[in-house]
Amino acid sequence: MKCKTCGRSWTFAQAVRRSLKITGKKECPYCGSEHYSTKQSHYRFGVLAFSALFVFMLLVELFQMRLTSALFFAFFILLMVTIVHPLMIHLTDAD
Ligand SMILES: [Zn+2]
Repeated sequence: MKCKTCGRSWTFAQAVRRSLKITGKKECPYCGSEHYSTKQSHYRFGVLAFSALFVFMLLVELFQMRLTSALFFAFFILLMVTIVHPLMIHLTDAD
């Protein structure tokens, strides 16, 4: 992710922290200017979350997972979503 105002790239950790806020302002760590993720980003996050949920339910059903393994697996998928999500965010200056 790159800041639209100052043009500096955010580190991956910074991008992850900001992507956890799905909606609302995202502040640039360098110049402090505020950005919004685009509507397209929101849509893509919805698709990502839905596919993750779908894959999760499919695999739980397929392998007849016990609750503990299912929870562990859910955590893993959540981690994957957290990692992939910031890569898909596009910033815009207007909401
Ligand atoms: Zn900036």
